[in-house]
Amino acid sequence: MEKAALYHRPESEYAYLYDKDTMHIRLRTKRNDVSNVKLISGDPYLIHETKWYNHSENMQIMAQTEDYDYWFIEKTAGFKRLQYAFELTDNKERVFYGDRGLFEMTEQARMKAENYFRLPYFHDIDRVKTPEWVKKTVWYQIFPERFDNGDTTNDPDNVLEWGSKNPDRDDFFGGDLQGVINRLDHLVDLGINGIYFCPIFKASSNHKYDTIDYFEIDPQFGTKELFKELVEKAHEKGIKIMLDAVFNHTGYYSKEWLDVVENGEKSKYKDWFHINRYPVEFGKNGNFEGATTIAYDTFAFTPRMPKLNTANPEVREYLLKIAKYWIEEFDIDAWRLDVANEVDHHFWKAFYHETTSLKEDFYILGEIWHSSQSWLNGDEFHAVMNYAYTETIINYFVKKDISSTKLASGLYEQLMLYRNQINQVMFNCLDSHDTTRVLTLCNGDKDLAKMTLAFTFLQQGSPCIYYGTEYAMEGENDPDCRRCMVWEEDKQDKEFYEFIKELIQLRHNEQHIISYGSLDFNLLDNEKNIVGFKRVLDNQELIAIFNNSLTENIGLDNKENVIFSQNIILNSEKIIIKPKGFVVYKKCYR
Ligand code: CA
Repeated sequence: MEKAALYHRPESEYAYLYDKDTMHIRLRTKRNDVSNVKLISGDPYLIHETKWYNHSENMQIMAQTEDYDYWFIEKTAGFKRLQYAFELTDNKERVFYGDRGLFEMTEQARMKAENYFRLPYFHDIDRVKTPEWVKKTVWYQIFPERFDNGDTTNDPDNVLEWGSKNPDRDDFFGGDLQGVINRLDHLVDLGINGIYFCPIFKASSNHKYDTIDYFEIDPQFGTKELFKELVEKAHEKGIKIMLDAVFNHTGYYSKEWLDVVENGEKSKYKDWFHINRYPVEFGKNGNFEGATTIAYDTFAFTPRMPKLNTANPEVREYLLKIAKYWIEEFDIDAWRLDVANEVDHHFWKAFYHETTSLKEDFYILGEIWHSSQSWLNGDEFHAVMNYAYTETIINYFVKKDISSTKLASGLYEQLMLYRNQINQVMFNCLDSHDTTRVLTLCNGDKDLAKMTLAFTFLQQGSPCIYYGTEYAMEGENDPDCRRCMVWEEDKQDKEFYEFIKELIQLRHNEQHIISYGSLDFNLLDNEKNIVGFKRVLDNQELIAIFNNSLTENIGLDNKENVIFSQNIILNSEKIIIKPKGFVVYKKCYR
């Protein structure tokens, strides 16, 4: 047995309360090394009375990466306390693994209370809770300057004609909130029930990530009254609203930063930022675009985005006031947090407390591109933008960089980083205002883009469509991915629209089994480039098979109820999946 590969950690993603009465327990072992894992468990205060250490239950493999097996069991406890340890067997030995390490499987080892891991008490208050509605949400990301121009009276002076060119960094096309209100029925028709807005607060750029005033709607986008109307109308149509909070840094033209520029060390705002030397004026003292010797900390090396000192109580109170204001006054449902990983944990804990106290099912989504366990323990965020997950999907389907086995391994690896209730509300997007559009990544190959989207929509977490994907819009990395939305009917890909609409419907129909069912990659063929997985929940099975090869046809016995497909031939005996084809079917047991 490869004992060095064993891993378990109490009160982490390896041992946590899933619902108020149920604990999830995971154990990691080396792949294909241990033949059987059992859990020995019982109440800490009854170990000698009932001798529960003489009994054990089988654990199951729930995930398999290239290196590890992950074993799983769900446990309830009558007295809301649990002591537990693992009994591991391979072809040579049987060992006991607990809080004090590894022992031979003797009664002496098993009967010692201190040898067990513990969940001392099932405290529901400490349980990681995630909003139910997010599991059911299909998001639509809007970059407001480019979605629709519903009011030409608020257009910037230098506005360009809608769609007249591909965007450069500093172009304005006049998109606004009235445009979004006008198009809400478009989103309803598509099946969308959540909008993620890029920033809408007063700022100088077209992307508005350089905030001037967090308490004002940008006048080019509209007014507070109009935003209120937008939220109300969206809510009436069953659409939730998520705004983008840029709290890592502010904009150069915010009044606080301009005060520091003007007054230097005498500014009352000097401790609102991380200043290394004065002056901090743009163009002086190393504060140039692209300079790396900047006099103050910024977002990346962008002197127009001075980093806020969130450890300063004044800054903290100011930002928390903003976070609460848009919930209390406008009833928003979620905050997406820009550059969330570069803001301190103390701040996010206060943020979580304040926002969820106002609205119990509020959703907090962090922009983090790497492993995020430290932010996902139930007191900071509910989820992160799941780039590590969707990147693996892109690497397999689009870039064809990895094998089927590696795809499954990469996805399992991400799922095993987080508690299941977190995985259910992760934010899964294939593209955004910061990346190349998915169809462009696919070199314009629509079947490939559809297959990649379909695979993503069948994953745990809530999927997001970037505006325009429904009409097969293309675009390279930003600013090109921020083109004006195509509203002229003759330029819209109606067939792609219908596909996206059906895919969203499929997702809504099968959401329950996707969120709660198990995941078993039961078909991984690296030679033929095929991947198939099965989700099981109660008496239902959802099965999906994807043909990522360019040449091979796959034949399957047709005994199933096909609910969604692409590029297949279906007859009474066989399903033939052609290249870039996929099939989703369902089985029901009585
Ligand atoms: Ca406008």
